[in-house]
Amino acid sequence: MPAVYRVRLAEPARDNEHPAGSAAGGSQRPVGEVRGCGARRGPVVGVDAGGTKVLAVRLGPDLAVERELLRQWQERSREAVIDLLLTVSRELADGEDPLAFGFGLPALVPKERGAIPYSTHLPLEGVDFRALAEAALGRPVAVDNDVNCALRGEAALGAARGARDAVMLTLGTGIGGAILCDGQLCRGARGFAGELGHIPVAGRTERCQGKCPGEGCLEAVASGGALDRAAREAAEHGTIAALAARARRGEAVDGALVTALALAGDADCRALLATLGEQLGAGLVAVANAFDPEVIVIGGGLARAGELLLAPAKRVLRQRALPGIGDSVRVERAQLGERAGAVGAAIMALEMATGASERSVTESAAPSGGSDG
Ligand SMILES: [Zn+2]
Repeated sequence: MPAVYRVRLAEPARDNEHPAGSAAGGSQRPVGEVRGCGARRGPVVGVDAGGTKVLAVRLGPDLAVERELLRQWQERSREAVIDLLLTVSRELADGEDPLAFGFGLPALVPKERGAIPYSTHLPLEGVDFRALAEAALGRPVAVDNDVNCALRGEAALGAARGARDAVMLTLGTGIGGAILCDGQLCRGARGFAGELGHIPVAGRTERCQGKCPGEGCLEAVASGGALDRAAREAAEHGTIAALAARARRGEAVDGALVTALALAGDADCRALLATLGEQLGAGLVAVANAFDPEVIVIGGGLARAGELLLAPAKRVLRQRALPGIGDSVRVERAQLGERAGAVGAAIMALEMATGASERSVTESAAPSGGSDG
C-alpha cells in the first residue's frame, strides 16, 4: 500500500505581504493528501522562479509548509540567476537533507533531460538545469514549466482539486498555460504543450510578444501586458479621464492601476477590463472546445481583477463554446495564490522521489479524501 501524505498549507499570503526570509504564517489547516510509494516522507523543497521574484517553500515531514522564502532578482545574468535559485534551495534545506528539490521555471522544459531550448524571462536557454542542480544540491531534482507546477499545485490542493481534466491560464505580462488530461499533465511530443497564450483570437492582428511570430495571439490581447498597453493608450488619448489625470501628474499608468481604479468603482476602467475579459473569453472557448475540462483555473496578477474580468469572459464562453461544454465548464480563480508554483514544484519533486504517479496525487486529493479544504 502506498503511504498517504497529509498536506497542510497555511492560508496563502497575499503578494508582497511576507518579507523575504519569513516563515509561512497563519493557521496550518490540512487541505489535501498526497499519496506516495516511498517509505520516507519529506521534507521536499519547491522553488518557483517568476519573472520578478523567486518564491520557495519547504514542505516538512507532515508536508506542512514549514518555511517560505521570497527573493527578488537583483541581477539577471545567467550565473546570478542560477546562483540565486541554488542559494534559496540550500537556505530552505537548512540541514534538513530534503528528499528532493523541485523547480518551476518560466521556460520550455524538455520532457526528460537536456538543455532548456526557450526561456521567457530568465537567461536559462541552453542550460541543463536539472543536471546542474542535481550536481550542486546532491539530491534528485524535478524541473518543469512554472505553469505546469502551478496547475499541479492547484490540482492537488487548490481550485482544480479533485478534477481529472483541468486547464490553467496564468495572466501576467504574458499568458502561460497548462493542461491536465485524465489526471496527467499533458506535455506534448517535445514537452512544450500548453502554450495557450498563443491561441489566435479571431479578428485580431496585434503582433505577439517575445519571440512568437504570431499575430492576434491571446497573449497579445488579454494579458497583463496587453492591459498595460491599453492603459497607456487610454491615458495618452484621454479616453479614460482617471488615467489621463494620473499621467498628467507624472504617475505611472499601467494595468495594475486600471485594476485598482476598476475595483474602486471607476466605470471606464471597468469597461476596459470587460473588453479584455471578452477577449479572454474567446480564448477560453478554444480551450474548452479543445480539452473539455471540468474547470479552467485563472491565475496570475491580472486575476486580481476577479469577476470584473472573469464575468465577461464566462459570458463569452457560455455563448460560443459547443453545447454541453460551454454551459458546464467551471471557471475559477486560482486558490493557492502566488504559492501555487512552489507548492506544485515540491509535490512534483515528491512524486519523482517516491515514484508516486500524478494520477494518484490527483485521486487522493479529491474532496472525498477526508480533509476540510
Ligand atoms: Zn503568440
